[in-house]
Amino acid sequence: MSEKPFARVIVDVPQLPSLTYKCPTDVEIRVGDRCIVSLGRREVVGLVVALEDTTDISSDRQKSVQRVFKEVSPLDESWLRFTKFASDYYQHSWGEVALSNLPNFFRSKPGPRYAVSLERLRQLKTVSSKANNEVVLQLNDEQRLAVEMITKATSFVPFVLHGVTGSGKTEVYLRVIESVLSRNPDAQVLLLVPEINLTPQLEARIRSRFPGKRLVCMHSGLSNGDRARAWLAMHEKRAQILVGTRMATFASAPNLALIIIDEEHDLSYKAGDGVRYSARDLLIKRAQMLSIPIVLGSATPSLETWANVRSGRYQLLALHHRAIPTATMPILTVIDPSHEKLTHGLSQKVIQKISETLQRKEQVIVFLNRRGYAPVLTCPSCGWLSSCPHCSTYAVYHKSVGRLMCHHCGWSTPVYAHCPNCGNVDLVPLGTGTQKVEEIFQMLWPQARILRIDRDTTQKKNAAQEAFQAVHDGNVDILIGTQMVAKGHDFKNVSLVVVLNIDSQLASANPKSEERAFANLMQVAGRAGRSGLKAEIIVQSRFGDRAIFEALAKQDYELFADRVLSERREEGTSPYVFQALLLADASTIDKALQFLNDAASVGEALRKQLSADSIIIYDPIPMALMRVADRERAQLLIESTSRVQLNAFLKQWCHVLIGIRSSVHWVVDVDPSDI
Ligand code: ADP
Ligand code: ZN
Ligand code: ZN
Repeated sequence: MSEKPFARVIVDVPQLPSLTYKCPTDVEIRVGDRCIVSLGRREVVGLVVALEDTTDISSDRQKSVQRVFKEVSPLDESWLRFTKFASDYYQHSWGEVALSNLPNFFRSKPGPRYAVSLERLRQLKTVSSKANNEVVLQLNDEQRLAVEMITKATSFVPFVLHGVTGSGKTEVYLRVIESVLSRNPDAQVLLLVPEINLTPQLEARIRSRFPGKRLVCMHSGLSNGDRARAWLAMHEKRAQILVGTRMATFASAPNLALIIIDEEHDLSYKAGDGVRYSARDLLIKRAQMLSIPIVLGSATPSLETWANVRSGRYQLLALHHRAIPTATMPILTVIDPSHEKLTHGLSQKVIQKISETLQRKEQVIVFLNRRGYAPVLTCPSCGWLSSCPHCSTYAVYHKSVGRLMCHHCGWSTPVYAHCPNCGNVDLVPLGTGTQKVEEIFQMLWPQARILRIDRDTTQKKNAAQEAFQAVHDGNVDILIGTQMVAKGHDFKNVSLVVVLNIDSQLASANPKSEERAFANLMQVAGRAGRSGLKAEIIVQSRFGDRAIFEALAKQDYELFADRVLSERREEGTSPYVFQALLLADASTIDKALQFLNDAASVGEALRKQLSADSIIIYDPIPMALMRVADRERAQLLIESTSRVQLNAFLKQWCHVLIGIRSSVHWVVDVDPSDI
């Protein structure tokens, strides 16, 4: 029946290469088909990646493919090549990359009602989209040029749409999508967004703009069923537009013609566990493999992306001005809090500005990147601190629920009535989180409608969407929140942004924290003054003389990025050098370090053997946050000026590491976001 007698199949097992099985005799099997194969004593879902004439396996040990899923068409060749690339690049087995990125429904063994469930998944839920009552905007010159350049590209071109906040990047995306879909009605478009909370507004806007097109979403807020439904609609070409978070990177999209990554600098695009991939980097590759254009949009592009702009590898499209002609950029004031007596942590000027803004019936955003009430609870009489028993960090005090909670491992306990060490009853919260700010603000402005948005207030389904909607609808006077409030939203009536406690980020030893602080500040500033109100941003910081504030005051990303890049180039650090981390965790730090030391010696030998001169292997060190959930963690940094050498080295090195028998758990992180 099948073209050839043997099938190469990949399965979702770490470090396992593809396996060979006999093709079934009663049904045809094709490359890209999902199937069921036996693996030891288990039966698992596999994916056929090749058909072959022969095998080395002796005939008595050959096993057959047990079932082929004919109900769904095979994954196409370009998807297979893409996942193979990701597997080679990130040093994970192909099966792990390909299968773990399928929705549950398509990678688990089918239940008895498989066919019925599948038919149900094919019935797309109809989403009522409001009639198109949006006024069609007249593009400004810079927007028009950007749209023109992108729509002209008929092969792979990586565009960087660098537009200040409020410059109308979304409108550019919509026009480009429109053009792609009008040229080919079956074309598919992928639009990646950093936050699921940004999808509802965007989704509504796109739906009303393209009423004749099918739009589907993929993000972690969906049920397994809805995710599978969206996946299948794209795979079967019934949907043309996919809006999703990082997980949409691996969606099957046989007619993919355009990729857009909004807020491309966002950290959520890098996976923090499992296959530690960068959605942005992979999608650049995917676009290249497919010969299609890709657009990276941001007001604060990542330095990696900016380096590619400066070297001419990516094409820059700039939007220098806010799109709404009356809109202005917020004016910056930095206040040194150590120069005056603060009221509940707030300077007089901040208090006065907030009151004035409220009087004008305009909205205020207060940004502070720390949720909870206080980051630590302490006993003034004996010095006890609320450490997490499982991590080398403090459990955060959450006053509203009366608990201490560890933000790293999830451990929590009712807050102690007495000091567990000396019995003292007066435990004191140290430092300030969003809950405490909320409490202070309620006290200072009892009449104001205050809303806090952070991960704690938005756990329930739709909670975030409703909260943001309340701000858009003008039912909130003061919005207090973490990064969540800084991203993307097009608030119309915000004219004051107050930033508290950016100093912990500015004082950090992490080389990337300055660029992150800068992006945070630019983004949160970007929420104010978007539709004509005179706007201000006030930052309480002891580091007012830092260069970062000069760039922020001028809203000049290029000034900041070019300076940091030239420093990096001089220092020979990322992005001018390629990096990978070997991360190890064990029951004790000694075991983890021992493993990494062994790995380093093996690596040294391999480096010589390969004559991989560009490779530097550093000494293993404990991770900054050493213990998490009772596992002690260490890391080993590898650097190279040659991407090719680094990749070849990692491949062989991992191969050897797999052979080291050890209770240590390890993983390679290529292009780590933190070192
Ligand atoms: P960004 O994503 O760049 O921060 P948005 O796409 O949210 O900006 O646009 C900011 C605001 O400008 C929106 O309210 C949008 O409707 C408006 N806008 C976009 N393009 C134009 C234009 N050409 N003329 C007038 N207003 C525009
Ligand atoms: Zn913990
Ligand atoms: Zn005590």
